[in-house]
Amino acid sequence: MTETLEQKEGPATELRRIGHWIGGQPVTGESGRSGPVYNPALGVQTGEVDFASVEDVDRAVAAARDAFSAWRAVSLSQRQELLFGIQRLVRDRREQIAKILTDEHGKVFSDALGEVQRGLEVVEFACGIPTLLKGGFSEQVSTGIDVYSIRQPLGVVAGITPFNFPAMVPMWMWAPAIACGNTFVLKPSEKDPSASLFVAELLKEAGVPDGVFNVVHGDKVAVDAILAHADIAAVSFVGSTPIARYIYEQGTAAGKRVQALGGAKNHMVVLPDADIDMAADAAVSAAYGSAGERCMAISAVVAVGDAGDRLVEAIKERLPKVKVGPGTDPESEMGPLITREHRDKVASYIDHGSEQGARVVADGRETTPDGDGFFLGVSLLDNVTPEMDAYKDEIFGPVLVVTRADTYDEAVELVNENPYGNGVALFTRDGGVARQFQFDIEVGMVGINVPIPVPVAYYSFGGWKSSLFGDSHIYGPEGVNFYTRGKVVTSRWPDPATSKVDLGFPQTR
Ligand code: NAD
Repeated sequence: MTETLEQKEGPATELRRIGHWIGGQPVTGESGRSGPVYNPALGVQTGEVDFASVEDVDRAVAAARDAFSAWRAVSLSQRQELLFGIQRLVRDRREQIAKILTDEHGKVFSDALGEVQRGLEVVEFACGIPTLLKGGFSEQVSTGIDVYSIRQPLGVVAGITPFNFPAMVPMWMWAPAIACGNTFVLKPSEKDPSASLFVAELLKEAGVPDGVFNVVHGDKVAVDAILAHADIAAVSFVGSTPIARYIYEQGTAAGKRVQALGGAKNHMVVLPDADIDMAADAAVSAAYGSAGERCMAISAVVAVGDAGDRLVEAIKERLPKVKVGPGTDPESEMGPLITREHRDKVASYIDHGSEQGARVVADGRETTPDGDGFFLGVSLLDNVTPEMDAYKDEIFGPVLVVTRADTYDEAVELVNENPYGNGVALFTRDGGVARQFQFDIEVGMVGINVPIPVPVAYYSFGGWKSSLFGDSHIYGPEGVNFYTRGKVVTSRWPDPATSKVDLGFPQTR
């Protein structure tokens, strides 16, 4: 077992203080509470982030509330022009954003750039807001009467986001939210908070009015203040399942609209007719990319029939080539985990798996790079059964488990019985079976020979079962619906010739 790594604190004078962003300005927190931010590749603390008090959250919500009436009145073409400006700035500064992600999250720089790009695509979708907000119109529903529908913003809306995509997941929320005319309060993960502040500055530079976009950092205190705040109309959440459930229950009980996306256990079903090399490449990329800290990572392979031995062998062959190292090294393909505690917890699944009867094909503790960073090499467990912890838990690290199934039906049943339903992938050459799979499978995002089927920005993202609480998926058309409410107007222009008193219920004929 690799020794437990110590999180080393750098000299106090060198720590960056990370504050909030309220009303278009950086604001130092006044709660007296804060938390450490690390460089996971070095294993040293690099910053200290302020944790918001209830009063800090009140200030941010007040700034957003004050900005709302002017912001919702900004014309669609002006809002669109601003969004194009934001798109250009994010694109031009993507390397700076990616550098912040690599420093605080640990993911390799190329992956960080990919994260920014996928977030940017949601900004690009939001640039189409004039078209997206078009309503319907029915002329002459009754004599001289027209009916039309419009969608209007909700007011102040909030986003609470996880550590694993510190730039992209906030973009899934703020881009459609502000495009629709809402003002926004973001509570990013306290583990990697700096990207949100950088983006706040970019939005200001693009010309977004003060108060339209605000950031408060913090923990449960800030989150609970958001959930209870009477002036917040809706909350978007992305994070783990227990917290997603909590956010949904508390937020809806307080009368808010809530979409809360939770954790995942994404299966990759490999049928005997699949191209095994292609499936093995996909499994390694999707399981170990970003150190397995992706909600769409493949964490369980279900090998059907005689695909099992060939697939495990093909994956095993590829593992020694995965280059683990600091995200700033262009040679690295996989960086460290987010904290020492998380790294140790992930590593513990290797022993649990072995004790519970799994075969350890690769033990990542043996290939972990030296140094103080929160690294863990890639691990593979075979013959994992559904009762084992390594199968049941969302490990959220570079540990891939392989479960064997005799038939297609058995594989589908296994996936459908899993409490999560975020993503799933099928590898096969048989189009008929693939079509049946998309019909049978109880999962929100399905890949056919595609291991990480994150929908493009003009579709919506979301899982089923314990991977999503609420009715609305995030971004895309459902994101626009989530951040707006419909209004239907029935209108008649004065015609004194037809005016009369009529106490009956309005008729259309
Ligand atoms: P997390 O649930 O610990 O934290 C998410 C947010 O909730 C953070 O802002 C955090 O400060 C806040 N939070 C944490 N504990 C809280 C508490 N007790 N009360 C109130 N708020 C609290 O998640 P994480 O560890 O940052 O992120 C990893 C998880 O997010 C994984 O489970 C992953 O699958 C999930 N995730 C899901 C998706 C998706 O789209 N479904 C996307 C990315 C990540």
